[in-house]
Amino acid sequence: MRIFAATSRYVQGPGVLDALGEHSAVLGSTAFVITDADMARLLGERVLASYQAAGVTAILEIFPGEVTHTAMARLANKAKTAGSDLIVGLGGGKALDTAKGVALQLGTPCVSVPTIASNDGPASGAIAVYDEHHIMQDILHLPRNPELVLVDSQVIANAPVRFLRAGIGDAISKKFEADACHAAGAMTLLGTPASQTGLMAADACYRIIRQHAVEAVRAVEGKQVNNALENLLEAVVLLSTVSFENGGLSLSHALARGFSYLERARGTLHGDHVAYGLLVQLIMEKRPTAFIQELVGFYQQIGLPTQLDDFGLSSPTVAEIRSLAENSMISPSAARFAPAVDADQLEQAIYQVEALTA
Ligand SMILES: [Zn+2]
Repeated sequence: MRIFAATSRYVQGPGVLDALGEHSAVLGSTAFVITDADMARLLGERVLASYQAAGVTAILEIFPGEVTHTAMARLANKAKTAGSDLIVGLGGGKALDTAKGVALQLGTPCVSVPTIASNDGPASGAIAVYDEHHIMQDILHLPRNPELVLVDSQVIANAPVRFLRAGIGDAISKKFEADACHAAGAMTLLGTPASQTGLMAADACYRIIRQHAVEAVRAVEGKQVNNALENLLEAVVLLSTVSFENGGLSLSHALARGFSYLERARGTLHGDHVAYGLLVQLIMEKRPTAFIQELVGFYQQIGLPTQLDDFGLSSPTVAEIRSLAENSMISPSAARFAPAVDADQLEQAIYQVEALTA
C-alpha cells in the first residue's frame, strides 16, 4: 500500500496575504486566527480586512507562545464558543502548530499562513507538542494536511534571514533522508513505504535549493523578493514537507532530536540542527570526503552551520558530544537507516564532521 499526503491548496507570492479571505472562503464562514502579539500588530489589520472583503467573519486570538496541551484545549474552547468553523495559524511554527492542534480538537479545516520559512511545518499534518519547560512531549497528527497553505513571499523576505537559512537546512537533507529511509526499507510517517512521488519531490527539493538558495538568501538579506526566492520557497515550504511525509526521514532528523537536549545550543533553530545532522548522515553513508566538502562549501556560501561551535558550543566537551549521539538515538528516525547505527557510531561520525570542517 502507498499513501500520498499533501495540502490541497498552496498559494505563494508577494502580497498574497491580502487574498487570504478569498482562498479561505471555500473552507469556512467563521475564521479563528491564532497568532502572536507581534504578528497581530504587523499584519492583523490586513488579515481582518481580507476576511471582511471575502464575507468571512474573523477573530484574531493571541496565543501564549508555547504549543502545550493546555493552551490548545483553552483555545479550542474559545473557538468553539465563537462558533468558528475554520482555524487559521498566522506566524512562526508554534502559532501554526497551535492552530493545527485546535483544528484537530474541533475537527475543523485548518489554514497555515507562515510568516517565516524556517522549517517544514506549515504544510505538514504533524503537530509538535511541548511541555511548560519547552521540551518536546508528543507529536500529534491531523487526519488531513492543512487545507490551505498561504505564503506571502514579501512577508518572508521582511523576516530576519536566519529563519530562511534554517528552512534551507531543514529542506536540504530531505533527498538524502528519503533515499536512506527507502534503502533501509523503513516506513514514512504515513506508515507506508515511500511513494515515487515522495522520492521525486525530495530530489527536486535538493535540486532547487542548490540552484537558487544563494541568490535567494542574498535577496532576503536586502528584504527583496526575486524569482530565485520564489523558487526556493516552493522547495522550503512545500516540497520539503511533501518529501518527508511521503519519502521518509532518517539520521539528519535524528540528530536534530539530539540537539534539543544540548543546554548550550538552546535557542538555536531546528533547521540548523538538521543541516549539521546531514553532515553526520553523509559520514555514516561513507560518502567520499570530496562530496561532503563540496556540500560544506555550499553551506558556507549561505551561512549554514558546519561545526558545533556554530551552535554556541565552543570547544564542545566529550560529554556534550556523547549526549548529542545518545539523545539522537531516541528519535524513531535513527532506526530509518541501514545498516543499523548505534550511539558509538554516531559519536565517531560527529568527531569526523568536526575534524572535516575545522
Ligand atoms: Zn524538520
